[in-house]
Amino acid sequence: MDWLRSIGGELKLDRLVNFVGNSLWQSNCPLCKRPSEQVLCKDCDRQITAYQFPQFLQKDSPISTEIPLYSWVTYDGAVKRAIATCKYENHPEIMEVIAEKMAIRWRQEPIANLKNIPVVPIPLHPNKLKSRGFNQAEVLARRFCDLTSLPCHPKLLQRIKDTKPQMQTKTKGERQHNLSKAFAVSRIPRSSQKLDSDKVILLDDIYTTGTTIREAIAALASQNIKVKGVIVIARPQFENRSPNLNS
Ligand SMILES: [Zn+2]
Repeated sequence: MDWLRSIGGELKLDRLVNFVGNSLWQSNCPLCKRPSEQVLCKDCDRQITAYQFPQFLQKDSPISTEIPLYSWVTYDGAVKRAIATCKYENHPEIMEVIAEKMAIRWRQEPIANLKNIPVVPIPLHPNKLKSRGFNQAEVLARRFCDLTSLPCHPKLLQRIKDTKPQMQTKTKGERQHNLSKAFAVSRIPRSSQKLDSDKVILLDDIYTTGTTIREAIAALASQNIKVKGVIVIARPQFENRSPNLNS
């Protein structure tokens, strides 16, 4: 729908575009397949929102004490299904819905030191992008930035190694090797993509072991770009985490 909105925005035909769009896309909820007027039906919407952390900012600083991690929900149940359905059943619109919810939470956070810092989504390798058709992190970042007025730089990082999914790796060593030197910073950014900052916020769909994020941080650091924060939709609820997190 983004492409339709962008054309509509240029022609100042937003209302018409929304009307046509809603008529054409009024279909079934991609998660439960029941008819729905919104992208997600109310039930599925409510189920996902129920996994929200009490605070977007994670208290345990899993990346480092200098780089805060923001996770909107716990990676479980309906959230897992929603992210998998988006990625593997071709429903990028689910990311837009999630981005809208995350933007609301973001605006409630004390994030004074992260204002105006460009957001960089974790990229897919071109082979993966071709087979999936979209990068879910980029869809998420674009909508999130639209709503939070943060600059969006989806082309700054590139994935130069066609890695297997981290979920399929078994050991820490295998995960690190799999993602070692997986990213590069784009050396010739298009003029419209020019980065006016030496600081960025990374954005991804899921934070698990943190290996992906650490590799991206290292690639950016090699070009003297500092990561000031990481935003994800979800992270798993680990047993060794503070029991107060969800209370
Ligand atoms: Zn549903």
